[in-house]
Amino acid sequence: MKRKAGQDRSITANWRPATLAVRGGTARSEYGETSEALFLTSGYTYDKAADAAARFAGEQEGMTYSRLQNPTVEMLEQRIALLEGAEACRTMATGMAAMTAALLCQLQAGDHLVGGRAAFGSCRWLTDTMLPKFGIATTVVDARDPQAFLDAVRPETKVFFFETPANPTMDVVDLRAVCGIARERGITTVVDNAFATPALQRPMEFGADVTAYSATKMMDGQGRVLAGAVCGSQDFIDNTLLPFTRNTGPTLSPFNAWVVLKGLETLDLRIRRQSESAVAVGRFLEARVPRILHPGLASHPQHDLAMRQMSAAGPIFAFEVADRAQAHGLLDALALIDISNNIGDSRSLMTHPASTTHSGVAEDKRIEMGIGEGMLRLNVGLEDPQDLIDDLDQALRQVGL
Ligand SMILES: *Cc1c(COP(=O)(O)O)cnc(C)c1O
Repeated sequence: MKRKAGQDRSITANWRPATLAVRGGTARSEYGETSEALFLTSGYTYDKAADAAARFAGEQEGMTYSRLQNPTVEMLEQRIALLEGAEACRTMATGMAAMTAALLCQLQAGDHLVGGRAAFGSCRWLTDTMLPKFGIATTVVDARDPQAFLDAVRPETKVFFFETPANPTMDVVDLRAVCGIARERGITTVVDNAFATPALQRPMEFGADVTAYSATKMMDGQGRVLAGAVCGSQDFIDNTLLPFTRNTGPTLSPFNAWVVLKGLETLDLRIRRQSESAVAVGRFLEARVPRILHPGLASHPQHDLAMRQMSAAGPIFAFEVADRAQAHGLLDALALIDISNNIGDSRSLMTHPASTTHSGVAEDKRIEMGIGEGMLRLNVGLEDPQDLIDDLDQALRQVGL
């Protein structure tokens, strides 16, 4: 592999995000291919036994096994790290593998974690069910209020874990305030940045230590593969995350890494266009439904904060109708927008969180999180926004709205 420009930090340091998204991390083989090569290999060979020994001892550069290194996966890791402004990144098989690894690699029995209340269903399962099972105490707080984090801190608190904007209520966390509280106390912040991606929000600029991703969402962006990533300092990635992932194996497949590399090339274009369309669709819905939760609209209680931290509001938002029957009726009446619980896709997709993504969360916790029976979540895709508005208009009429 020729490590040329894309992997030379002295060169990439001068590149802007749009350039990094297309070229960051690229390493060409001896064939000089323009597009990144896909290395579907589980192992590597050595010219001499001494080379194998030297590589295992870390004395010779080179790869040993694809659970640990792969050229295609490494290109993606470098590209994400560059976009994030992080020293290092490791990709994982899924977003949940990334969240699990980012937490378990640094926590042990006796530790305490403070988590955001509004969160992706499986992230809540990690804080509510998995961590306590291993003797790691957790407290869940209203993450919109930085003081709530402060009030929950104990001497043994090691990690703050939250997402912003949060799935699906679009709660926004004041990154500077919450990361500041953590920094002063030696607590590590782990931010699930799936909704915004580094194209719209870079939590490390506000003091976050670790960002974790479902790359399944906007990074792939076309609904094809599952993938995850964890970004942090070189020290965190090498000495805290890697010992955990090398031996537990939540590794991303090179094929999926290649697909996400291709996705990143258009991330900036897609997310800005989808964000603009989401504001247009949101403005239309605002006049037709009882409540809309969209950080890009002035009606969102944290609109100003969201716009200070994010360069656009992203493609996803929630709104409310009367109840589950009306929500399901609206979904069934859609002709263009698909009923689907995925997000970040170039297609517009809508779901009813209480009966899908958050159906595994107990009803009292769902209500506490602000997920009512009438809530719907919409991912605005790359279709013409007027076609989406027309589809919503006819579906709303069918349910009497
Ligand atoms: C989808 C999602 C996850 C989980 O990612 P997978 O790739 O589905 O495992 C975690 N957090 C958020 C905010 C998500 O939207």
